Amino acid sequence: MKLILFGNIETWNDAVSFLANHRPDVQIVGLCSLDLGPYADSNATVTLRQALALFKDGLIDGILNSNGENPYYFQLLEELGFHPIYTMPSYLLQQELDGSLLSKEPYIYPYLEVKPELMQLEFHLADHCNLNCKGCTHFSNLVTEPVFADITQFQKDIKRLSELFSHIRHFYLLGGEPFLNPDIHTFIAAVKASFPYTQIIIVTNGLLLLSIQPAVIDMLRKHQAHLSISDYNCLDHDKITRFVREHQLSADLRIEKEEFYKFLNPKGDSDGSAIFEQCSRKNCTFLDKGRIAACCLPFVVKYFNQSIPEMEGIDLYQPDLTGHQIQRQLIRPMELCRYCSTDVPYTWEISKPPFEKEDWCV
Ligand code: SF4
Ligand code: SF4
Repeated sequence: MKLILFGNIETWNDAVSFLANHRPDVQIVGLCSLDLGPYADSNATVTLRQALALFKDGLIDGILNSNGENPYYFQLLEELGFHPIYTMPSYLLQQELDGSLLSKEPYIYPYLEVKPELMQLEFHLADHCNLNCKGCTHFSNLVTEPVFADITQFQKDIKRLSELFSHIRHFYLLGGEPFLNPDIHTFIAAVKASFPYTQIIIVTNGLLLLSIQPAVIDMLRKHQAHLSISDYNCLDHDKITRFVREHQLSADLRIEKEEFYKFLNPKGDSDGSAIFEQCSRKNCTFLDKGRIAACCLPFVVKYFNQSIPEMEGIDLYQPDLTGHQIQRQLIRPMELCRYCSTDVPYTWEISKPPFEKEDWCV
């Protein structure tokens, strides 16, 4: 079988060497990407237009998307007229590394014939926070009482997701402040039980990091969970760095003050498609009590309460729902996108009640 390998340049090598080892009958006759960058003049690369011409002339059997979790790529390849489009599950590379790769598998599949992968999923372990950033995009500074995730509902939803998706590439546990949840290790275990190859990323402001319990530290290490620490100028960098090193944790400490953005238009008269197109949060797929959406807004805007519709999102328990249907919906604008606007940046600061709606509204 002759295929063109399509995907981000950095995925090419792994895919080519995996296929050479496990599918020597598959011949990769060209490497293709939306942007060929420094390889544009290489004999090994082809543009999408050239790949399509090869396909239409019957010189290749199809195209293989090496970023198998990217629904935008599948949509583009479909619209251009490639058929079949093949996918290679991204967890195969991890299975190859840890020795759990099953033999006698095809390893590459027509993508509609297998469960798709999700690029990323976000989940709130706590809606509230121990820091009150002005204009928090998750509205955590408006959550006046502790609001924790329910582990029973979470376990049920994760199990349901595993029926719909073969893999979730990046699983973000955040909030609010995720370390406020005393059961964080139980949530980590639940994620890994259903999605063993997912990369868990815990997004934290770091304020509780030095006091986390040994059981949590063990769980972080055991599952190689990554700590993404947003430092809003409140942390002792040396202590945090030492702590991370001593406990052999994976972490990045973003010490620059982050830029914050206003982005809401409560009038709801924005061009939803145009706003969605340029939205930097549209791939922050969010899970909340049996529903998922392209971002957290449908589930957290209730804390803002300015007549913006709530609870839009895909019901995971609809009968006959497939992962592919979810993927297609996630890359389309929601009704709610009309209530967003072009981001307007401002400098981060702590805020105190009473909060101004202008902290969020453009
Ligand atoms: S630390 Fe993060 S979650 Fe907490 S208020 Fe600030 S931006 Fe929001
Ligand atoms: S509602 Fe739409 S435009 Fe607004 S943040 Fe979410 S995905 Fe982006």
